[in-house]
Amino acid sequence: MKISSNFESGNIEVISVENPLDIRLNIRKDTNSDFMQWFYFRLQGAQDFPCLIHIMNAGSSFVPEGWEQYNVCASYDKKTWFRVQTDFDGEKMTIHHTPKRNSVYFAYFAPYSYEKHLELVHKAQESAECIVENLGETVEKRDIDMLMIGEPAETKKTIWVIARQHPGETMASWFMEGFVNRLLDPNDSVSLTLLKKAIFYVVPHMNIDGAIHGNLRVNSLGVNFNREWKEPSLEKSPEVFHVRNKMDQTGVDLFLDIHGDEALPYNFISGTAGIPGFTEKQARNMKIFLDHWLEVCPDFQTEKGYPEDKPGQANLNIASKHVAHRFSCLAFTLEMPFKDNKNILEPVYGWSPKRSEKLGESVLQAILKVIDSL
Ligand code: ZN
Repeated sequence: MKISSNFESGNIEVISVENPLDIRLNIRKDTNSDFMQWFYFRLQGAQDFPCLIHIMNAGSSFVPEGWEQYNVCASYDKKTWFRVQTDFDGEKMTIHHTPKRNSVYFAYFAPYSYEKHLELVHKAQESAECIVENLGETVEKRDIDMLMIGEPAETKKTIWVIARQHPGETMASWFMEGFVNRLLDPNDSVSLTLLKKAIFYVVPHMNIDGAIHGNLRVNSLGVNFNREWKEPSLEKSPEVFHVRNKMDQTGVDLFLDIHGDEALPYNFISGTAGIPGFTEKQARNMKIFLDHWLEVCPDFQTEKGYPEDKPGQANLNIASKHVAHRFSCLAFTLEMPFKDNKNILEPVYGWSPKRSEKLGESVLQAILKVIDSL
């Protein structure tokens, strides 16, 4: 038997792999950082053996509650990711699986590769509505891609959507697939109407370096982009630096920042009511947007989420709070589950790439409802 992780986004350390009923592994820390939670590895030579795979250091990860009522994602073809029985005793997480093939992959959530990101970007530019623009380079000299969707016009609203500030939150990329593909669908009346009223700036992948390294939360230097928005630096967080500069040029009327949450089994947003100077207009538009999204998408809910910031106490280093404050606009962080949506459970796949895509498609209807009042 063999365990390997020397591939894009791979993350695991092998302690022992001699006995299929007692395979012992550790998750490796993010590069230059103590964060630790994302894993992605391959098991070979175990077909038809009942295996018990223990992640020995799960209890010391960034969010240990993330392993409660969580089932690991597995795949034989790297396309379909199904869930396998997993339990957690507070220290170690144990995967119970009898592989039906000789090679099987396990991951925290269905991975989304750099190549797939490039395919999304280049497929998008085949639409007459979309132009791909280079914003700069990551720390490791990879391109930072932005999609400009829609014809610019003075009268139009400006909408910004970014994803994958936290590289291990791959559901954010699947969300973007749904969002971009629907927005560019020439037969979709919601998208056609939106493109008459707005121009979209979309950065589908904010942390390519961190994702390639197999990190949960930071880039190759160990920097958490979602704490960099007050003072982004060209040396340490060029993605945030360039996006914020571009926003200063375009202005922002609505901003969405797409994430995944380790602990909560729900889709929810974190709002900006705690920013200094939160306006009546921001509050009104927030309500219109949320009420309408609830109406059109049962996968979205507002009952469960993070506690709200006290008035004026929001952390302006966080993207959505910073942008809401900087541009006095409507802004949200969206969180999707690693586990499943407890309101509409799916026992085979859990929360999945497909469901994330559908959520990305559905948000366009909420945007349509609020667009005239932005
Ligand atoms: Zn996140």
